[in-house]
Amino acid sequence: MTQRDVLISEVGPRDGLQSIQTIMPTAAKKAWITATAAAGVAEIEVGSFVPAHILPQLADTAELVAHARLIPGLNVAVLVPNFKGAQAAVASGAHKITIPLSVSETHSLRNVRRTHVQMLDEVRQISALIRSLPVAERPHFEGSLSTAFGCTLEGEVPERRVLELAVALMEAGCDEVGLSDTTGYANPAQVRRLIRSVWSAVGRDQLTGIHLHNTRGQGLANVVAALDVGLTTLDASLAGLGGCPFAPGASGNIVTEDLVFMLEAMGLRTGIDLDALFALRELLQQALPDEPLYGMTPLAGLPKGFVPASFMNRQP
Ligand code: ZN
Repeated sequence: MTQRDVLISEVGPRDGLQSIQTIMPTAAKKAWITATAAAGVAEIEVGSFVPAHILPQLADTAELVAHARLIPGLNVAVLVPNFKGAQAAVASGAHKITIPLSVSETHSLRNVRRTHVQMLDEVRQISALIRSLPVAERPHFEGSLSTAFGCTLEGEVPERRVLELAVALMEAGCDEVGLSDTTGYANPAQVRRLIRSVWSAVGRDQLTGIHLHNTRGQGLANVVAALDVGLTTLDASLAGLGGCPFAPGASGNIVTEDLVFMLEAMGLRTGIDLDALFALRELLQQALPDEPLYGMTPLAGLPKGFVPASFMNRQP
């Protein structure tokens, strides 16, 4: 059993691919998912159940879930925009379903064409669907508070709104809430403050993860802030592929390679093999030759004599 202090959730196949125009062939996606899991990544968000005419890049999500479910020990996550998407997600057998709820209602209307009231109604329907399943077959259901740190359309997002919606999501039947810096507006002080506030509103076990973007170079600083407070699940994407196509100007998740290096260097075990992760960039480069790959550690290489925390106590 791999020991982990931090769970890295690879969101490149969803967040990364949805923000670029090029459609990655399904076979390449499967190879990426397989190799990511083989590198030690324990959770992958493999796609989103959105209508194919909106995001043709993710039209093969059901096939990817079926593929990923065959990988032992892998937690297979998907995003859904509404109840219809959740029906497809449940039918596919995904282990974790996340529905984003934009704290900025303007962003919500632009992104999924629904108000907060309408979205919470979708959440209640999804929760009822999940509860109708036998306990062992129920996917974990997360409500992700997107634009929680600020919105490109509305500007400042009041903390009070974040807390109200966190409570509303839990009351509507989510297992937990997540915080998402969709627009890359967050700073470390804000990250610390908001996590503590959400915990006091919904309970500590009801918020364990955060989705950060590196739009303004604050990604890893925000990670450290989240870790200091006590979060344990971090989203990232290989080579920083991605962003939010509905938030103008937002680009790039945290780079998984840089994140894993930082955590391992800090003595936190991710269970991920950095060399295997670096090798995966080649796969991405070949499948998406026109897309820029981000990340500093893969280019600079690991420091001389570097021993990752995950492999420190292992017998050779
Ligand atoms: Zn994102």
